[in-house]
Amino acid sequence: MLENISKLKNLLTNPKQIVITTHRGPDGDAMGSSLAMFHLLKQFGHNVSVITPNHYASFLHWMPGNQDVLVFEGNEDEARRITNDADLIFFMDFGDLSRISDFAEIVSSANATKILIDHHQDPDMRIADIIFSDTQSCSTAQIVYEIIDSMELSNHINKSIAECLYVGIMTDTGSFKYSSTTAKTHQIIAELIGVGIENAKIHELIYDNSSANRMRLLGYCLNEKLLLYTENNSAIISLTAKELDRFEFQKGDTEGFVNYALAIKGIRFATFIVEKEGVVKLSLRSKGDFKVNEIANKYFNGGGHINASGGVSQVSVDGTIKVIEEIINNYKKQLNQ
Ligand code: 5GP
Ligand code: MN
Repeated sequence: MLENISKLKNLLTNPKQIVITTHRGPDGDAMGSSLAMFHLLKQFGHNVSVITPNHYASFLHWMPGNQDVLVFEGNEDEARRITNDADLIFFMDFGDLSRISDFAEIVSSANATKILIDHHQDPDMRIADIIFSDTQSCSTAQIVYEIIDSMELSNHINKSIAECLYVGIMTDTGSFKYSSTTAKTHQIIAELIGVGIENAKIHELIYDNSSANRMRLLGYCLNEKLLLYTENNSAIISLTAKELDRFEFQKGDTEGFVNYALAIKGIRFATFIVEKEGVVKLSLRSKGDFKVNEIANKYFNGGGHINASGGVSQVSVDGTIKVIEEIINNYKKQLNQ
Protein backbone atom coordinates (compact mmCIF):
# COMPACT_ATOMS: atom_id res chain seq x y z
CA MET A 1 0.00 0.00 0.00
CA LEU A 2 2.69 2.52 1.01
CA GLU A 3 4.73 1.86 -2.11
CA ASN A 4 1.62 2.32 -4.25
CA ILE A 5 0.77 5.53 -2.39
CA SER A 6 4.17 7.01 -3.18
CA LYS A 7 3.90 5.91 -6.84
CA LEU A 8 0.50 7.56 -7.07
CA LYS A 9 1.77 10.73 -5.37
CA ASN A 10 4.60 10.93 -7.91
CA LEU A 11 2.21 10.52 -10.82
CA LEU A 12 0.06 13.36 -9.52
CA THR A 13 2.80 15.94 -8.90
CA ASN A 14 2.08 17.83 -12.13
CA PRO A 15 -1.24 18.39 -13.97
CA LYS A 16 -2.36 15.37 -15.97
CA GLN A 17 -5.14 14.29 -18.33
CA ILE A 18 -7.08 11.78 -16.28
CA VAL A 19 -9.94 9.41 -17.08
CA ILE A 20 -11.91 7.71 -14.31
CA THR A 21 -14.10 4.79 -15.28
CA THR A 22 -16.24 2.26 -13.46
CA HIS A 23 -18.31 -0.85 -14.13
CA ARG A 24 -21.35 -1.16 -16.35
CA GLY A 25 -24.62 -0.47 -14.57
CA PRO A 26 -22.87 1.81 -12.10
CA ASP A 27 -24.23 1.59 -8.57
CA GLY A 28 -23.79 3.90 -5.57
CA ASP A 29 -20.26 2.70 -4.83
CA ALA A 30 -19.21 2.88 -8.48
CA MET A 31 -20.43 6.49 -8.83
CA GLY A 32 -19.48 7.47 -5.28
CA SER A 33 -15.88 6.31 -5.55
CA SER A 34 -15.48 7.68 -9.10
CA LEU A 35 -16.94 11.11 -8.37
CA ALA A 36 -15.06 11.41 -5.05
CA MET A 37 -11.80 10.82 -6.94
CA PHE A 38 -12.94 13.30 -9.63
CA HIS A 39 -13.54 16.06 -7.04
CA LEU A 40 -10.21 15.36 -5.32
CA LEU A 41 -8.08 15.34 -8.47
CA LYS A 42 -9.69 18.50 -9.86
CA GLN A 43 -8.42 20.41 -6.80
CA PHE A 44 -4.85 19.80 -7.99
CA GLY A 45 -5.31 21.21 -11.47
CA HIS A 46 -5.72 17.92 -13.32
CA ASN A 47 -8.07 17.67 -16.28
CA VAL A 48 -10.43 14.90 -15.18
CA SER A 49 -13.22 13.04 -17.01
CA VAL A 50 -15.50 10.41 -15.51
CA ILE A 51 -16.65 8.01 -18.23
CA THR A 52 -19.24 5.33 -17.42
CA PRO A 53 -19.85 2.43 -19.85
CA ASN A 54 -23.63 3.08 -19.81
CA HIS A 55 -26.37 5.06 -18.08
CA TYR A 56 -27.14 4.68 -14.39
CA ALA A 57 -30.14 4.92 -12.09
CA SER A 58 -31.79 8.33 -11.62
CA PHE A 59 -31.54 8.09 -7.81
CA LEU A 60 -27.81 8.79 -8.30
CA HIS A 61 -28.28 11.82 -10.57
CA TRP A 62 -28.31 14.34 -7.70
CA MET A 63 -24.70 13.50 -6.86
CA PRO A 64 -22.19 16.36 -7.17
CA GLY A 65 -20.34 16.06 -10.48
CA ASN A 66 -23.14 14.08 -12.18
CA GLN A 67 -23.50 16.73 -14.90
CA ASP A 68 -19.84 16.23 -15.88
CA VAL A 69 -20.10 12.46 -16.38
CA LEU A 70 -19.71 11.24 -19.96
CA VAL A 71 -21.66 8.09 -20.83
CA PHE A 72 -19.71 5.95 -23.31
CA GLU A 73 -22.82 4.46 -24.95
CA GLY A 74 -23.97 7.11 -27.41
CA ASN A 75 -20.77 9.19 -27.03
CA GLU A 76 -18.25 6.63 -28.29
CA ASP A 77 -16.15 9.02 -30.39
CA GLU A 78 -15.76 11.60 -27.64
CA ALA A 79 -14.93 8.89 -25.08
CA ARG A 80 -12.32 7.44 -27.43
CA ARG A 81 -10.69 10.82 -28.04
CA ILE A 82 -10.49 11.67 -24.32
CA THR A 83 -9.22 8.19 -23.38
CA ASN A 84 -6.56 8.16 -26.11
CA ASP A 85 -5.22 11.47 -24.74
CA ALA A 86 -5.20 10.33 -21.11
CA ASP A 87 -1.99 10.10 -19.05
CA LEU A 88 -3.75 8.20 -16.27
CA ILE A 89 -6.83 5.98 -16.19
CA PHE A 90 -8.47 5.00 -12.90
CA PHE A 91 -10.50 1.76 -12.77
CA MET A 92 -12.96 2.13 -9.91
CA ASP A 93 -14.95 -0.69 -8.30
CA PHE A 94 -14.22 -3.44 -10.83
CA GLY A 95 -11.39 -5.90 -11.34
CA ASP A 96 -12.07 -7.30 -14.75
CA LEU A 97 -12.24 -5.49 -18.11
CA SER A 98 -15.33 -7.44 -19.16
CA ARG A 99 -17.21 -5.26 -16.64
CA ILE A 100 -16.81 -2.18 -18.87
CA SER A 101 -18.03 -4.00 -22.01
CA ASP A 102 -17.22 -2.21 -25.30
CA PHE A 103 -15.27 0.58 -23.58
CA ALA A 104 -12.66 -2.05 -22.62
CA GLU A 105 -11.12 -2.14 -26.08
CA ILE A 106 -10.43 1.62 -26.05
CA VAL A 107 -9.10 1.55 -22.50
CA SER A 108 -6.79 -1.42 -23.20
CA SER A 109 -5.21 0.19 -26.24
CA ALA A 110 -4.70 3.56 -24.48
CA ASN A 111 -1.12 4.42 -23.55
CA ALA A 112 -1.98 5.74 -20.09
CA THR A 113 -0.76 4.47 -16.72
CA LYS A 114 -3.64 2.51 -15.21
CA ILE A 115 -4.61 2.53 -11.55
CA LEU A 116 -7.09 0.02 -10.17
CA ILE A 117 -9.01 0.67 -6.94
CA ASP A 118 -11.37 -2.16 -6.06
CA HIS A 119 -12.77 -4.51 -3.43
CA HIS A 120 -14.04 -7.41 -5.58
CA GLN A 121 -12.60 -10.92 -5.32
CA ASP A 122 -9.84 -11.96 -7.73
CA PRO A 123 -9.08 -8.77 -9.65
CA ASP A 124 -7.17 -9.30 -12.89
CA MET A 125 -3.71 -8.01 -11.91
CA ARG A 126 -2.68 -7.69 -15.58
CA ILE A 127 -5.06 -4.84 -16.38
CA ALA A 128 -3.42 -2.09 -14.30
CA ASP A 129 0.03 -0.77 -13.36
CA ILE A 130 -0.84 0.22 -9.80
CA ILE A 131 -3.33 -1.89 -7.88
CA PHE A 132 -5.19 -0.99 -4.70
CA SER A 133 -7.20 -4.15 -4.06
CA ASP A 134 -8.74 -4.88 -0.68
CA THR A 135 -11.29 -7.68 -0.89
CA GLN A 136 -12.06 -7.28 2.83
CA SER A 137 -13.15 -3.68 2.37
CA CYS A 138 -16.88 -2.96 2.46
CA SER A 139 -16.67 -0.61 -0.50
CA THR A 140 -14.38 0.98 -3.04
CA ALA A 141 -15.38 4.32 -1.50
CA GLN A 142 -13.80 3.24 1.80
CA ILE A 143 -10.55 2.37 -0.03
CA VAL A 144 -10.64 5.81 -1.70
CA TYR A 145 -10.96 7.43 1.74
CA GLU A 146 -7.98 5.38 2.97
CA ILE A 147 -5.91 6.36 -0.07
CA ILE A 148 -6.71 10.05 0.48
CA ASP A 149 -5.81 9.66 4.16
CA SER A 150 -2.53 7.85 3.36
CA MET A 151 -1.61 10.57 0.89
CA GLU A 152 -2.12 13.04 3.78
CA LEU A 153 -4.80 14.84 1.81
CA SER A 154 -7.68 14.44 4.30
CA ASN A 155 -7.87 18.21 4.66
CA HIS A 156 -8.91 18.30 0.99
CA ILE A 157 -12.08 16.28 1.68
CA ASN A 158 -14.75 18.88 0.95
CA LYS A 159 -18.51 18.45 1.10
CA SER A 160 -18.74 17.06 -2.46
CA ILE A 161 -16.11 14.38 -1.80
CA ALA A 162 -17.68 13.53 1.56
CA GLU A 163 -21.14 13.14 -0.01
CA CYS A 164 -19.80 10.87 -2.75
CA LEU A 165 -17.86 8.68 -0.31
CA TYR A 166 -20.89 8.50 1.99
CA VAL A 167 -23.08 7.26 -0.90
CA GLY A 168 -20.51 4.59 -1.80
CA ILE A 169 -20.09 3.29 1.73
CA MET A 170 -23.79 3.50 2.62
CA THR A 171 -25.02 1.66 -0.47
CA ASP A 172 -22.38 -1.10 -0.47
CA THR A 173 -22.89 -1.84 3.24
CA GLY A 174 -26.69 -2.00 2.92
CA SER A 175 -26.83 1.10 5.13
CA PHE A 176 -24.09 -0.17 7.47
CA LYS A 177 -25.69 -3.53 8.18
CA TYR A 178 -23.49 -6.05 6.31
CA SER A 179 -20.69 -7.82 8.16
CA SER A 180 -18.17 -5.91 6.03
CA THR A 181 -19.07 -2.83 8.12
CA THR A 182 -16.26 -2.38 10.64
CA ALA A 183 -15.29 0.06 13.36
CA LYS A 184 -13.06 1.70 10.74
CA THR A 185 -16.08 2.14 8.47
CA HIS A 186 -17.95 3.96 11.23
CA GLN A 187 -14.88 6.07 12.02
CA ILE A 188 -14.69 7.13 8.37
CA ILE A 189 -18.42 7.90 8.36
CA ALA A 190 -17.93 10.03 11.47
CA GLU A 191 -15.22 12.00 9.64
CA LEU A 192 -17.50 12.48 6.61
CA ILE A 193 -20.39 13.70 8.76
CA GLY A 194 -17.87 16.00 10.45
CA VAL A 195 -17.28 17.68 7.08
CA GLY A 196 -20.93 18.80 7.17
CA ILE A 197 -22.83 16.38 4.95
CA GLU A 198 -26.50 15.80 5.67
CA ASN A 199 -26.45 12.03 6.13
CA ALA A 200 -30.20 11.59 6.69
CA LYS A 201 -30.93 13.64 3.56
CA ILE A 202 -28.54 11.48 1.49
CA HIS A 203 -30.25 8.32 2.73
CA GLU A 204 -33.59 9.76 1.73
CA LEU A 205 -32.36 10.81 -1.74
CA ILE A 206 -31.15 7.27 -2.43
CA TYR A 207 -33.75 5.08 -0.74
CA ASP A 208 -36.95 7.10 -0.32
CA ASN A 209 -37.15 8.46 -3.81
CA SER A 210 -38.93 5.67 -5.69
CA SER A 211 -41.64 6.08 -8.28
CA ALA A 212 -45.03 4.60 -7.43
CA ASN A 213 -44.45 2.16 -10.31
CA ARG A 214 -41.28 0.85 -8.68
CA MET A 215 -43.12 0.11 -5.45
CA ARG A 216 -45.94 -1.58 -7.40
CA LEU A 217 -43.38 -3.68 -9.26
CA LEU A 218 -41.85 -4.69 -5.92
CA GLY A 219 -45.30 -5.64 -4.63
CA TYR A 220 -45.91 -7.70 -7.76
CA CYS A 221 -42.57 -9.50 -7.33
CA LEU A 222 -43.24 -10.40 -3.71
CA ASN A 223 -46.88 -11.30 -4.19
CA GLU A 224 -46.79 -13.13 -7.49
CA LYS A 225 -43.23 -13.86 -8.55
CA LEU A 226 -41.55 -15.26 -5.44
CA LEU A 227 -40.51 -18.89 -5.71
CA LEU A 228 -39.59 -20.49 -2.39
CA TYR A 229 -37.52 -23.64 -1.96
CA THR A 230 -37.89 -23.74 1.80
CA GLU A 231 -36.37 -27.20 2.17
CA ASN A 232 -33.14 -25.84 0.67
CA ASN A 233 -33.34 -22.35 2.21
CA SER A 234 -33.48 -20.69 -1.20
CA ALA A 235 -35.66 -18.25 -3.11
CA ILE A 236 -35.95 -16.93 -6.67
CA ILE A 237 -37.67 -13.83 -8.03
CA SER A 238 -37.79 -13.29 -11.79
CA LEU A 239 -39.06 -10.66 -14.21
CA THR A 240 -39.41 -10.73 -17.99
CA ALA A 241 -39.04 -7.69 -20.24
CA LYS A 242 -42.81 -7.76 -20.76
CA GLU A 243 -43.43 -7.52 -17.02
CA LEU A 244 -40.98 -4.60 -16.77
CA ASP A 245 -42.90 -2.81 -19.52
CA ARG A 246 -46.15 -3.30 -17.66
CA PHE A 247 -44.72 -1.33 -14.73
CA GLU A 248 -42.99 1.27 -16.95
CA PHE A 249 -39.59 0.16 -15.75
CA GLN A 250 -36.87 2.79 -15.35
CA LYS A 251 -33.17 2.08 -14.80
CA GLY A 252 -32.54 1.25 -11.15
CA ASP A 253 -36.14 0.25 -10.36
CA THR A 254 -35.26 -3.36 -9.49
CA GLU A 255 -32.20 -2.48 -7.42
CA GLY A 256 -32.45 -4.09 -3.99
CA PHE A 257 -35.35 -6.43 -4.87
CA VAL A 258 -33.17 -9.51 -4.32
CA ASN A 259 -32.64 -8.46 -0.69
CA TYR A 260 -36.35 -8.86 0.05
CA ALA A 261 -36.10 -12.56 -0.85
CA LEU A 262 -33.07 -12.86 1.41
CA ALA A 263 -34.92 -11.11 4.24
CA ILE A 264 -37.28 -14.07 4.60
CA LYS A 265 -36.53 -16.11 7.72
CA GLY A 266 -34.37 -19.13 6.92
CA ILE A 267 -33.46 -18.08 3.36
CA ARG A 268 -29.69 -18.31 2.80
CA PHE A 269 -29.53 -18.09 -0.99
CA ALA A 270 -31.60 -15.67 -3.07
CA THR A 271 -31.58 -15.08 -6.81
CA PHE A 272 -33.15 -12.27 -8.80
CA ILE A 273 -33.43 -12.83 -12.55
CA VAL A 274 -34.34 -10.02 -14.91
CA GLU A 275 -34.54 -9.69 -18.69
CA LYS A 276 -33.25 -6.23 -19.58
CA GLU A 277 -32.07 -4.80 -22.90
CA GLY A 278 -32.17 -8.28 -24.43
CA VAL A 279 -29.94 -9.78 -21.72
CA VAL A 280 -30.91 -12.04 -18.83
CA LYS A 281 -29.07 -10.68 -15.76
CA LEU A 282 -28.78 -12.35 -12.40
CA SER A 283 -28.24 -10.96 -8.93
CA LEU A 284 -27.16 -13.57 -6.40
CA ARG A 285 -27.16 -12.99 -2.65
CA SER A 286 -26.42 -15.20 0.33
CA LYS A 287 -26.10 -15.19 4.08
CA GLY A 288 -23.18 -16.82 5.86
CA ASP A 289 -20.50 -18.76 4.03
CA PHE A 290 -22.42 -19.84 0.92
CA LYS A 291 -20.18 -18.33 -1.78
CA VAL A 292 -22.35 -16.86 -4.53
CA ASN A 293 -19.31 -15.43 -6.34
CA GLU A 294 -18.30 -19.02 -7.13
CA ILE A 295 -21.78 -19.78 -8.49
CA ALA A 296 -21.76 -16.55 -10.55
CA ASN A 297 -18.36 -17.41 -11.94
CA LYS A 298 -19.00 -21.08 -12.65
CA TYR A 299 -22.45 -20.81 -14.23
CA PHE A 300 -23.01 -17.21 -15.30
CA ASN A 301 -19.71 -15.76 -16.49
CA GLY A 302 -19.82 -13.35 -13.56
CA GLY A 303 -18.42 -12.69 -10.12
CA GLY A 304 -18.51 -10.23 -7.24
CA HIS A 305 -18.35 -10.82 -3.50
CA ILE A 306 -18.93 -13.90 -1.36
CA ASN A 307 -22.44 -12.75 -0.36
CA ALA A 308 -23.32 -10.51 -3.33
CA SER A 309 -22.57 -11.36 -6.93
CA GLY A 310 -23.95 -11.07 -10.41
CA GLY A 311 -23.72 -12.55 -13.86
CA VAL A 312 -25.44 -13.15 -17.17
CA SER A 313 -27.46 -16.10 -18.43
CA GLN A 314 -27.42 -17.32 -22.03
CA VAL A 315 -30.92 -18.80 -21.83
CA SER A 316 -34.44 -17.40 -21.29
CA VAL A 317 -35.79 -16.27 -17.91
CA ASP A 318 -37.67 -19.57 -17.54
CA GLY A 319 -34.58 -21.53 -18.60
CA THR A 320 -32.52 -19.59 -16.05
CA ILE A 321 -34.99 -20.47 -13.29
CA LYS A 322 -34.44 -24.14 -14.21
CA VAL A 323 -30.66 -23.69 -14.03
CA ILE A 324 -30.92 -22.08 -10.57
CA GLU A 325 -33.24 -24.88 -9.43
CA GLU A 326 -30.59 -27.39 -10.50
CA ILE A 327 -27.91 -25.41 -8.67
CA ILE A 328 -30.06 -25.34 -5.51
CA ASN A 329 -30.41 -29.10 -5.82
CA ASN A 330 -26.69 -29.65 -6.41
CA TYR A 331 -25.71 -27.45 -3.44
CA LYS A 332 -28.38 -28.92 -1.13
CA LYS A 333 -25.79 -29.97 1.42
CA GLN A 334 -24.07 -26.57 1.75
CA LEU A 335 -27.47 -24.83 1.81
CA ASN A 336 -28.61 -26.98 4.70
CA GLN A 337 -25.51 -26.69 6.85
P1 5GP B 1 -25.79 -6.66 -8.49
O1 5GP B 1 -26.49 -7.94 -8.22
O2 5GP B 1 -26.15 -5.62 -7.48
O3 5GP B 1 -25.89 -6.22 -9.90
O4 5GP B 1 -24.24 -6.95 -8.27
C1 5GP B 1 -23.76 -7.53 -7.09
C2 5GP B 1 -22.27 -7.64 -7.15
O5 5GP B 1 -21.87 -8.51 -8.20
C3 5GP B 1 -21.57 -6.34 -7.40
O6 5GP B 1 -20.41 -6.31 -6.58
C4 5GP B 1 -21.19 -6.38 -8.84
O7 5GP B 1 -20.04 -5.66 -9.07
C5 5GP B 1 -21.03 -7.86 -9.12
N1 5GP B 1 -21.53 -8.18 -10.47
C6 5GP B 1 -22.76 -7.94 -10.96
N2 5GP B 1 -22.88 -8.35 -12.23
C7 5GP B 1 -21.67 -8.87 -12.57
C8 5GP B 1 -21.14 -9.46 -13.78
O8 5GP B 1 -21.82 -9.58 -14.80
N3 5GP B 1 -19.84 -9.87 -13.73
C9 5GP B 1 -19.06 -9.76 -12.60
N4 5GP B 1 -17.80 -10.20 -12.64
N5 5GP B 1 -19.53 -9.22 -11.47
C10 5GP B 1 -20.81 -8.77 -11.44
MN1 MN C 1 -18.50 -1.76 -4.70
